[in-house]
Amino acid sequence: MKGYFGEFGGQYVPETLYPALIELESAMECAFGDAAFWAEFDGLMADYVGRPSPLTCAHRLSAHCGMEVWLKREDLNHTGSHKINNAIGQILLARRMGKTRIIAETGAGQHGVATATVCALFGMPCQVYMGSEDMRRQRLNVERMRLLGAEVIPVATGSATLKDATSEAIRDWVTNVDTTYYLIGSAIGPHPYPTMVKRFQAVIGVEARAQILTKKGALPRAVIACVGGGSNAIGIFAGFMQDPVELIGVEAYGNGVHSGASINFGLPGVLHGARLHLLQDGDRQVLPTHSVAAGLDYPGVGPEHSYLAMSGRARYGLVDDRQALAAFALLNRLEGIAPALESAHAIAYLNTYAQENPGACVIVNLSGRGDKDLHTVLEEGL
Ligand SMILES: *Cc1c(COP(=O)(O)O)cnc(C)c1O
Repeated sequence: MKGYFGEFGGQYVPETLYPALIELESAMECAFGDAAFWAEFDGLMADYVGRPSPLTCAHRLSAHCGMEVWLKREDLNHTGSHKINNAIGQILLARRMGKTRIIAETGAGQHGVATATVCALFGMPCQVYMGSEDMRRQRLNVERMRLLGAEVIPVATGSATLKDATSEAIRDWVTNVDTTYYLIGSAIGPHPYPTMVKRFQAVIGVEARAQILTKKGALPRAVIACVGGGSNAIGIFAGFMQDPVELIGVEAYGNGVHSGASINFGLPGVLHGARLHLLQDGDRQVLPTHSVAAGLDYPGVGPEHSYLAMSGRARYGLVDDRQALAAFALLNRLEGIAPALESAHAIAYLNTYAQENPGACVIVNLSGRGDKDLHTVLEEGL
């Protein structure tokens, strides 16, 4: 069925949003079939984002793990993560649709900054919903968004974090659909968002595949990426879907009490317009989440990941806060690279993978850089 990945995905939205989703889907299909749209996207990827991002052979990390480890360097993109790929794609679509106002949700602030950045680039007014708790924890990103000309709207409901900010952004969109484009930040939400976000982030996997074939002359045994909503993972997976390559997502195991590991510990349910694996209790109440990496601190996961897990095409491992912090330190020391704490979860999983696959060649998606996390790392200790 259209908009479904097996039993996952779909459009679980209020009646009033259906026309907007239909409008969005037809605009997306029209743009995706238009060579001029992709020419503009590719141009901005090259000249604004700085793509292609390098594929770096991590020699000292490889020796440490007893494997051959390559890093896909999304940390080197403008604004410091993979989020900009999707923000550029969606703002091009918004402009094409004649929308005059952009709204977004943000957790740690990375997607908010990416959205505020593209709105500055295109001269569009931008409002970003952000949990008041996240605003407190991520003050620097709040100030960055304001400098870029965006308005940051505090959300104090619920746990005052990403889930609540997303609900509030959807509420705004329902009220203002005629003028407003909702620029969602991960491979979540009702159809067509998961499909659209995957298509924009697929640039990561398409580049990585060509780069490894050029540099090594062979495909890797596995591709490893952290999974919050799942956009950086689905983006790199997209390049290897048809290959005999293991696809491994890494979920946040958190602090032993709460996690962000929806596929490992969740049950099918509906969140933010789609059916997916959701962390919930016996009464179907959404559970509180925790991860030291704010970008993985979300109770749901993109519906295509739910499907890939159930079908067995991908599998999903676990890394806790401590292991991620240790991997953060390790990559600094061995490679001179500070990974985002989200990406550090994927790095940490190398230890697990190496036990069963000594000598294997793997690509890790380094989804972002860690400058934003230095204060957290110092607070948590290593
Ligand atoms: C937002 C973010 C993530 C998590 O989001 P996905 O949609 O799962 O990719 C991971 N890494 C970084 C650096 C982020 O900013």
